[in-house]
Amino acid sequence: MKSLSGHNVLVTGASGGIGAAIVERLAEEGARPIIHYGRDRAAASALLARLPEEGLIVQADLSTAGGAFELWREAESAVGVIHALVNNAGIRTEISIDAEAGAWRGAWQKEFQVNFFAATDLCKEALRHFKAHGGGRIVNIASRAGQRGYAADAMPYGATKAALVNLTKSIARSFGADGVVAVAIAPGWVQTEMADEFIAKFGKQAAVADIPISEMAQPSEIAELVAFVLRPSQRSLNGATLDVNGGSYIR
Ligand code: NAD
Repeated sequence: MKSLSGHNVLVTGASGGIGAAIVERLAEEGARPIIHYGRDRAAASALLARLPEEGLIVQADLSTAGGAFELWREAESAVGVIHALVNNAGIRTEISIDAEAGAWRGAWQKEFQVNFFAATDLCKEALRHFKAHGGGRIVNIASRAGQRGYAADAMPYGATKAALVNLTKSIARSFGADGVVAVAIAPGWVQTEMADEFIAKFGKQAAVADIPISEMAQPSEIAELVAFVLRPSQRSLNGATLDVNGGSYIR
């Protein structure tokens, strides 16, 4: 019996670097992943094909107001009971204080829509579902940026992740008695496309200069931690924010 056998786990943004690694790890530990993707169906299908056992794919655009609700409806109708939600989908937009007002507001609104509001909508649906089914788990993929503040040209990103950490704490405090366990994971740089874009622009040294171990995390490190948090044996982690940043932000 594997640690996550029989668990249906919805992972958002699962076609991307960290999301795909999470799905693979959860599947290795016996879970049935529900692979959400936004645009890259080919990557989602390839991921599904790599899994040792079953899983399924659901598409939804989380930049739209109804996208998250539609996603939950489809996932629930496909599997019946969902045991855990991993809010992993996210974007990182660059916007300068010199941008014109429309572009500035647009960037903030889109960042909050994808990184935070979609996650809040999914948490709402998940919490109602978990209350009706004896509990469940929520893992929100936040960021070191939400803890220590962020770069001048990407301030919306840090703000959305701080909000996500706070949401996780509220859920942990409010729904623990319903059998819900909610945890935030706050990585520093992780070696994915999101990081590659930054490196292409500013160079690797700019990313790793303030990391004591001089390396970005690997997606597999985040994935292993998510699987650990979802183990039925781990309940007291409820409300935690787990830092995965090589010592670049120590609280
Ligand atoms: P990525 O760009 O590889 O993956 C992001 C995923 O989000 C993709 O699957 C993408 O399709 C999905 N997504 C984006 N916009 C969407 C939309 N409108 N609708 C539906 N899906 C959408 O990035 P990643 O590095 O794998 O990031 C995964 C998570 O980890 C993000 O929340 C990110 O903020 C967080 N994170 C990443 C790093 C890093 O250095 N890579 C560090 C800290 C936190």
